[in-house]
Amino acid sequence: MTNDTRPDPLGFLADELAELKKQNLYRPMRVLSSPQAAEVVVDGKQLISLSSNNYLGLATHPRLVEAALNATREFGAGSGAVRTIAGNMSIHEQLETELAAFKHTEAVLTFQSGFTANTGVIPVVTGEADLIVSDSLNHASIIDGMRLSKAPRVVYPHKDTAALRELLREARAKGRTDAAGAATGEPHRLILVVTDGVFSMDGDIAPLPEIVAAAEEFGAAVMVDDAHASGVLGDNGRGTVDHFHLHGRVAIQVGTMSKAMGVLGGYVAGSRALRDMLIQRARPFLFSTSHPPAVAAACLEAIHVLLDEPELIDRLWSNTLYFKGELRRLGFDTGVSETPITPVMMGDSARAQTFSRRLFEEGVFAQPVVFPTVALDKARIRTIVTAEHSTAQLDRCLAAFAKVGKELGLIAG
Ligand SMILES: *Cc1c(COP(=O)(O)O)cnc(C)c1O
Repeated sequence: MTNDTRPDPLGFLADELAELKKQNLYRPMRVLSSPQAAEVVVDGKQLISLSSNNYLGLATHPRLVEAALNATREFGAGSGAVRTIAGNMSIHEQLETELAAFKHTEAVLTFQSGFTANTGVIPVVTGEADLIVSDSLNHASIIDGMRLSKAPRVVYPHKDTAALRELLREARAKGRTDAAGAATGEPHRLILVVTDGVFSMDGDIAPLPEIVAAAEEFGAAVMVDDAHASGVLGDNGRGTVDHFHLHGRVAIQVGTMSKAMGVLGGYVAGSRALRDMLIQRARPFLFSTSHPPAVAAACLEAIHVLLDEPELIDRLWSNTLYFKGELRRLGFDTGVSETPITPVMMGDSARAQTFSRRLFEEGVFAQPVVFPTVALDKARIRTIVTAEHSTAQLDRCLAAFAKVGKELGLIAG
């Protein structure tokens, strides 16, 4: 029974939502009624999508779909337990063994998502005696991982390796500080430098060789989050460590299987001891049920496809260069992107929302990214082309961008 006169203790939420809408910072959720592909049906309308992270089209790849179906028939729909109790199936182990071989690391541990890989690993490897040094534009899941750690942290300006080096030098000279900020005279047990491999909102690549050099100079370890590099950069999509030939010099590599690999999941690649300690201590791993067999099997097949069909990555990059080049030629500001993530800068959030809505009407699905995901004045339309887009589809997107860009005075008409 409801009682309409009782005050709603969550009544403030409606006020806060109204305020978000007033500031053009409210995010409505669109509904897809089609598979994730180059063309999608969104809220009943067929559109070319520039909004997925499905870089290689693996979300609907027949081999992945078949692997998922077979695993479901053989092992069932769910795993039924957390890994450490009864939910560790042969398919989970096989995925990790093959991922480790793929990444050229000793071992891999998978997590339910890239997000939980970050929130899992950071508090396990860092504590009070350590220091975390983090890029200012690192992903929210890294920030949350740091919040869950007892380690103090410092942030360096985005990709500023001179500032990073100075922070490391200072930390080594000063050593640990107590709660009041006074030097204790003891050295840090671990200094961990953490960076995205590819930054998710701007599409720029971390200067990993310089970061690794600085870390090595001051005896620090490096952790790279390769969510947007997995399947995109390096041989067969092995990531930024492979791209920069830094094998053996990055202690912790986080990857995701939710983006270019087309399925769902995160992983930590590194030493056998790292994997073993994560199994003992990583809370999202210990206290949350493992992937359904279908997910693990599809992820495993995604590795095989990365190895068998490198032409998908070639196609992704040729589409990227074409689309980015044409956007710039039209006069759009695509920021500092070096990867298939191409932001089209809009300035304020109202314009980003309007631009996206007009693109929608013109048959293009490209979502705005606004505060707090990016700074208030850095609102943008974030685009990602995939290997699946045909040149004709990209041309239709470019025509829509040109039309709306002129309409809204973003480019010269
Ligand atoms: C998307 C993303 C994640 C989260 O990965 P999921 O598998 O989607 O949870 C983590 N880090 C970065 C940099 C990302 O872009």
